[in-house]
Amino acid sequence: LSTQELLLSRIRDVADYPKPGVMFKDITPLLADPVAFTALTEAFTEFCVRHGATKIVGLEARGFILAAPVAVRAGMGFIPVRKAGKLPGATLSQAYELEYGTAEIEVHAEDLSAGDRVMVIDDVLATGGTAEASLELIRRAGAEVAGVAVLMELGFLGGRARLEPALAGAPLEAL
Ligand code: IMP
Repeated sequence: LSTQELLLSRIRDVADYPKPGVMFKDITPLLADPVAFTALTEAFTEFCVRHGATKIVGLEARGFILAAPVAVRAGMGFIPVRKAGKLPGATLSQAYELEYGTAEIEVHAEDLSAGDRVMVIDDVLATGGTAEASLELIRRAGAEVAGVAVLMELGFLGGRARLEPALAGAPLEAL
Protein backbone atom coordinates (compact mmCIF):
# COMPACT_ATOMS: atom_id res chain seq x y z
CA LEU A 1 0.00 0.00 0.00
CA SER A 2 1.34 3.45 -0.89
CA THR A 3 0.94 6.24 1.68
CA GLN A 4 -1.76 7.74 -0.51
CA GLU A 5 -3.68 4.44 -0.66
CA LEU A 6 -3.29 3.94 3.08
CA LEU A 7 -4.62 7.43 3.86
CA LEU A 8 -7.50 7.08 1.39
CA SER A 9 -8.47 3.73 2.89
CA ARG A 10 -8.87 5.38 6.31
CA ILE A 11 -11.26 8.14 5.20
CA ARG A 12 -14.95 7.38 5.56
CA ASP A 13 -17.61 8.84 3.27
CA VAL A 14 -20.75 9.75 5.21
CA ALA A 15 -23.75 10.50 2.99
CA ASP A 16 -26.12 13.38 3.78
CA TYR A 17 -24.01 14.83 6.60
CA PRO A 18 -24.26 17.52 7.94
CA LYS A 19 -27.17 18.07 5.54
CA PRO A 20 -28.91 16.26 2.66
CA GLY A 21 -26.86 16.07 -0.54
CA VAL A 22 -23.47 16.46 1.17
CA MET A 23 -20.95 13.60 1.16
CA PHE A 24 -18.91 14.23 4.32
CA LYS A 25 -15.29 13.09 4.48
CA ASP A 26 -14.77 11.69 7.97
CA ILE A 27 -11.15 11.41 9.13
CA THR A 28 -11.79 9.74 12.49
CA PRO A 29 -10.82 6.25 11.18
CA LEU A 30 -7.45 7.71 10.11
CA LEU A 31 -6.90 9.32 13.52
CA ALA A 32 -7.67 6.01 15.20
CA ASP A 33 -5.04 4.16 13.13
CA PRO A 34 -1.57 5.02 14.48
CA VAL A 35 0.18 3.78 11.32
CA ALA A 36 -1.94 6.00 9.07
CA PHE A 37 -1.82 9.00 11.45
CA THR A 38 1.97 8.70 11.66
CA ALA A 39 2.28 8.42 7.87
CA LEU A 40 0.15 11.56 7.49
CA THR A 41 2.22 13.44 10.08
CA GLU A 42 5.46 12.44 8.34
CA ALA A 43 4.15 13.52 4.92
CA PHE A 44 2.99 16.91 6.23
CA THR A 45 6.27 17.38 8.10
CA GLU A 46 8.34 16.64 4.99
CA PHE A 47 6.31 19.23 3.05
CA CYS A 48 6.76 21.87 5.77
CA VAL A 49 10.52 21.32 5.96
CA ARG A 50 10.91 21.22 2.16
CA HIS A 51 9.19 24.60 1.81
CA GLY A 52 11.10 26.29 4.59
CA ALA A 53 8.24 26.83 7.02
CA THR A 54 9.06 28.16 10.47
CA LYS A 55 5.55 28.09 11.97
CA ILE A 56 2.48 25.90 11.51
CA VAL A 57 -1.06 27.27 11.48
CA GLY A 58 -3.87 24.79 12.18
CA LEU A 59 -7.45 25.65 11.19
CA GLU A 60 -10.17 24.94 13.75
CA ALA A 61 -11.06 22.23 14.53
CA ARG A 62 -9.77 19.21 12.60
CA GLY A 63 -6.78 21.22 11.43
CA PHE A 64 -5.68 21.47 15.08
CA ILE A 65 -5.53 17.69 15.38
CA LEU A 66 -3.50 17.26 12.19
CA ALA A 67 -1.19 20.27 12.59
CA ALA A 68 -0.14 19.86 16.23
CA PRO A 69 1.90 16.65 15.80
CA VAL A 70 3.55 18.15 12.69
CA ALA A 71 4.60 21.21 14.70
CA VAL A 72 6.14 18.99 17.38
CA ARG A 73 7.80 16.67 14.86
CA ALA A 74 9.18 19.58 12.81
CA GLY A 75 10.21 21.67 15.81
CA MET A 76 8.05 24.57 14.66
CA GLY A 77 5.57 26.62 16.70
CA PHE A 78 1.87 25.77 16.48
CA ILE A 79 -0.52 28.69 15.94
CA PRO A 80 -4.29 28.16 16.18
CA VAL A 81 -6.57 30.03 13.77
CA ARG A 82 -9.96 29.97 15.47
CA LYS A 83 -13.55 30.89 14.82
CA ALA A 84 -14.34 34.40 16.03
CA GLY A 85 -14.67 34.93 19.76
CA LYS A 86 -12.58 31.99 20.98
CA LEU A 87 -9.15 33.57 21.48
CA PRO A 88 -8.65 35.58 24.70
CA GLY A 89 -5.91 37.98 23.61
CA ALA A 90 -5.64 40.78 21.03
CA THR A 91 -6.61 39.31 17.64
CA LEU A 92 -6.62 39.99 13.92
CA SER A 93 -9.96 39.00 12.33
CA GLN A 94 -10.86 38.08 8.78
CA ALA A 95 -14.42 37.66 7.47
CA TYR A 96 -15.16 35.51 4.42
CA GLU A 97 -18.11 34.43 2.31
CA LEU A 98 -19.92 31.15 2.82
CA GLU A 99 -22.59 29.64 0.58
CA TYR A 100 -25.15 31.38 2.80
CA GLY A 101 -23.85 34.29 4.87
CA THR A 102 -20.37 34.95 6.20
CA ALA A 103 -17.93 33.49 8.71
CA GLU A 104 -15.02 35.02 10.61
CA ILE A 105 -11.72 33.59 11.79
CA GLU A 106 -9.09 35.04 14.11
CA VAL A 107 -5.48 34.66 15.18
CA HIS A 108 -3.61 36.10 18.14
CA ALA A 109 -1.78 39.11 16.71
CA GLU A 110 1.34 38.39 18.76
CA ASP A 111 1.71 34.85 17.34
CA LEU A 112 2.79 35.91 13.84
CA SER A 113 5.20 38.58 12.69
CA ALA A 114 7.68 39.60 10.01
CA GLY A 115 10.29 36.91 9.46
CA ASP A 116 7.87 34.02 10.03
CA ARG A 117 7.21 31.61 7.15
CA VAL A 118 3.87 30.01 7.82
CA MET A 119 2.40 26.70 6.60
CA VAL A 120 -1.38 26.28 6.90
CA ILE A 121 -2.65 22.78 7.63
CA ASP A 122 -6.24 21.50 7.47
CA ASP A 123 -8.09 18.28 6.73
CA VAL A 124 -10.25 19.29 3.76
CA LEU A 125 -10.00 22.01 1.12
CA ALA A 126 -13.59 22.50 -0.07
CA THR A 127 -14.47 25.91 -1.56
CA GLY A 128 -11.16 27.32 -0.30
CA GLY A 129 -12.81 30.14 1.63
CA THR A 130 -11.38 29.19 5.01
CA ALA A 131 -7.84 28.69 3.73
CA GLU A 132 -8.01 31.91 1.71
CA ALA A 133 -9.04 33.89 4.81
CA SER A 134 -6.21 32.31 6.81
CA LEU A 135 -3.67 33.47 4.21
CA GLU A 136 -5.06 37.01 4.52
CA LEU A 137 -4.55 36.85 8.28
CA ILE A 138 -0.97 35.64 7.90
CA ARG A 139 -0.08 38.45 5.48
CA ARG A 140 -1.87 41.10 7.55
CA ALA A 141 0.21 39.97 10.53
CA GLY A 142 3.30 40.75 8.45
CA ALA A 143 4.34 37.12 8.03
CA GLU A 144 5.12 35.22 4.85
CA VAL A 145 3.03 32.32 3.46
CA ALA A 146 5.06 29.11 3.05
CA GLY A 147 2.09 27.21 1.64
CA VAL A 148 -1.08 25.26 2.36
CA ALA A 149 -1.18 21.53 3.05
CA VAL A 150 -4.39 19.53 3.31
CA LEU A 151 -5.18 15.86 3.54
CA MET A 152 -7.92 16.09 0.90
CA GLU A 153 -8.96 18.48 -1.82
CA LEU A 154 -12.58 18.29 -3.06
CA GLY A 155 -11.63 19.18 -6.63
CA PHE A 156 -15.19 19.68 -7.88
CA LEU A 157 -15.63 22.68 -5.54
CA GLY A 158 -12.86 24.69 -7.17
CA GLY A 159 -10.94 25.57 -4.02
CA ARG A 160 -7.56 25.46 -5.72
CA ALA A 161 -8.54 28.12 -8.27
CA ARG A 162 -10.07 30.33 -5.57
CA LEU A 163 -6.92 30.04 -3.47
CA GLU A 164 -4.46 30.74 -6.28
CA PRO A 165 -4.33 34.56 -6.00
CA ALA A 166 -3.88 34.43 -2.22
CA LEU A 167 -1.15 31.78 -2.55
CA ALA A 168 0.80 34.14 -4.82
CA GLY A 169 3.06 31.33 -6.00
CA ALA A 170 3.28 29.46 -2.69
CA PRO A 171 2.53 25.72 -2.99
CA LEU A 172 -0.76 23.97 -2.24
CA GLU A 173 -0.36 20.28 -1.43
CA ALA A 174 -3.24 17.82 -1.18
CA LEU A 175 -1.91 14.51 0.08
P1 IMP B 1 -13.99 25.61 2.67
O1 IMP B 1 -13.78 26.90 3.41
O2 IMP B 1 -15.26 25.60 1.88
O3 IMP B 1 -12.79 25.22 1.85
O4 IMP B 1 -14.21 24.49 3.75
C1 IMP B 1 -13.13 23.95 4.43
C2 IMP B 1 -13.47 23.76 5.86
O5 IMP B 1 -14.65 23.02 6.02
C3 IMP B 1 -12.35 22.96 6.50
O6 IMP B 1 -11.97 23.55 7.73
C4 IMP B 1 -12.91 21.58 6.66
O7 IMP B 1 -12.55 21.02 7.90
C5 IMP B 1 -14.41 21.74 6.55
N1 IMP B 1 -14.99 20.73 5.64
C6 IMP B 1 -15.63 20.93 4.48
N2 IMP B 1 -16.05 19.78 3.93
C7 IMP B 1 -15.65 18.81 4.77
C8 IMP B 1 -15.76 17.38 4.77
O8 IMP B 1 -16.33 16.72 3.88
N3 IMP B 1 -15.19 16.74 5.82
C9 IMP B 1 -14.55 17.40 6.82
N4 IMP B 1 -14.43 18.71 6.85
C10 IMP B 1 -14.97 19.42 5.85
